[in-house]
Amino acid sequence: MSLVMANGSAIEWTDATWNPVTGCTKISPGCKFCYAERLTLRFGRGPFGQLRLHPDRLLLPLRWRAPRRIFVNSMSDLFHERVPDDYIERVIAVGRLAPQHVFQILTKRADRLLQWSAGVKVPPNVWLGVSIESARYIWRADRLRDVDAAVRFISAEPLLGSLRDLDLTGIAWVITGGESGGNPARALVEAWDGGWRPKREAVMWVRELREKCRRAGVAFFHKQWGGPRPTSGGRLLDGLVWSEMPGAHEKSDGCSSSRLIRSQNVAAVSDLLAKTR
Ligand code: SF4
Repeated sequence: MSLVMANGSAIEWTDATWNPVTGCTKISPGCKFCYAERLTLRFGRGPFGQLRLHPDRLLLPLRWRAPRRIFVNSMSDLFHERVPDDYIERVIAVGRLAPQHVFQILTKRADRLLQWSAGVKVPPNVWLGVSIESARYIWRADRLRDVDAAVRFISAEPLLGSLRDLDLTGIAWVITGGESGGNPARALVEAWDGGWRPKREAVMWVRELREKCRRAGVAFFHKQWGGPRPTSGGRLLDGLVWSEMPGAHEKSDGCSSSRLIRSQNVAAVSDLLAKTR
């Protein structure tokens, strides 16, 4: 698997990953069994704590004509304190230059996201989200609410407790998921009949969020129950697969968007290239 760009991601809610930054440092309990860290070490790309900017990767999404959802920085956190503001702006500029795609940016650094976003016009195809693993971190949703973005979303993965007090005002999409490959005490599943089944309390936590979403008209996506492997517990909640997506952004036609990039935005691409050298 490429750690640079995976066309056809195993992550159910995206089509591809793009990593203009790699490496990160842990910030809250949801990071404990960080999947990005494990992949980095498995592929000998460590040390994970060494944050690296990859300007040579910045223009990669512009080469993709077909519209796709792109998870930005699956191997890092774009709003990490060591990523300069102007580098974040270049990543957003790529989103602006590639309106055929949706760029999904997820962070645990909600304070930095809010601080950075002041006065920034985020293009409608750039979705901004925060990870919330337990009630202690629902304040991240409050920071996100104050960010001017067409689509704001919450990833409750790895879900470690009830989020019953989470306010979904201004939120368009909620993703839930259980940890994989971590400590069995944190897992949402338990061994049963030669396989894995969701723990009773985990079902309650996920149902709680689904019901909140239904009441608020928010798209709900249950990614996985997790377990020893991401697929151990499957994806079913009450016998159904929940794969709702926010509808606020209409994807544009890939070919005409590519033409737009070639004709109208040549100067902007050149400018971006110059800055990334
Ligand atoms: S913020 Fe994300 S990428 Fe960074 S250590 Fe935590 S889980 Fe891993």
